[in-house]
Amino acid sequence: MKVGVVGGGIIGLATGKLISEKGHQVSVFEKDTIGSHQSGNNSGVLHCGLHYKPGSLKAKLAVEGVRKMIEYCRVNDIDHDVCGKVVVANSSEELSRLEKLALRGKKNGLKGLQYLNNAELKKREPYARAIKALLVPEEGIVDYKKVLYSFKRDIEKHSGKVFEKSKVHGISGIKRLALLSRPMRYWKQNIRHQIFIIGCGLHNLRVRFRSSAYARGAQAGARTFV
Ligand SMILES: Cc1cc2nc3c(=O)[nH]c(=O)nc-3n(C[C@H](O)[C@H](O)[C@H](O)COP(=O)(O)OP(=O)(O)OC[C@H]3O[C@@H](n4cnc5c(N)ncnc54)[C@H](O)[C@@H]3O)c2cc1C
Repeated sequence: MKVGVVGGGIIGLATGKLISEKGHQVSVFEKDTIGSHQSGNNSGVLHCGLHYKPGSLKAKLAVEGVRKMIEYCRVNDIDHDVCGKVVVANSSEELSRLEKLALRGKKNGLKGLQYLNNAELKKREPYARAIKALLVPEEGIVDYKKVLYSFKRDIEKHSGKVFEKSKVHGISGIKRLALLSRPMRYWKQNIRHQIFIIGCGLHNLRVRFRSSAYARGAQAGARTFV
């Protein structure tokens, strides 16, 4: 199947990678350069799902996701550090919230959660002060730009293509056509795919509203669009 993915952030590239690995022909269209928006400019934290409601899909995906991402970074030699995170409480109100968080983390299956005493906190974080501190060892930091370029290489390894400086202006639901503009001689082309997936971050709605399939009510979910 020919699949078009709009957006070269982590959502677009991760989706493109998975679909290309299943043997589909993937083209990713990015209006700027990959990772030039949120995914390449965020805080680089590997979140592990401490905050999410136990049993929710978010919790399940975050816990599974952080472990898969760390494994992916190890295998692909991408800079990362599972340095852990310390969450601190400094008032009685924060104390009860911290205890609720610890319970959530435990229910979500996070490993190695433990409260630190003052000496242990000082050793780890000399400038932090707390009534109570919770260590979350599964969190870390990563260079997400390197992750994005690695996903791009994975797509290309599976015969997919990633087009930068290629803005999608709209999608026709009837013929599955994307109206695309690219600089210079490629300016404005129609590209046909069987499925389009929108991963445009903050521009998702803008692209969906410009798509005739959206007008016919054929969209599914906030990020995916068939
Ligand atoms: C300040 C900040 C800090 C954050 N820190 C973290 C963190 O530490 N850890 C963490 O896990 N998450 C963090 N996040 C959240 C995370 O960065 C985002 O959830 C994630 O990057 C969103 O990815 P995305 O692919 O949906 O969007 P984006 O990365 O924004 O990608 C969307 C892409 O679509 C492209 N696009 C848009 N319109 C079109 C079009 N018409 N045609 C072609 N391309 C188009 C854009 O150019 C863009 O590159 C942070 C977010 C922010 C804002």
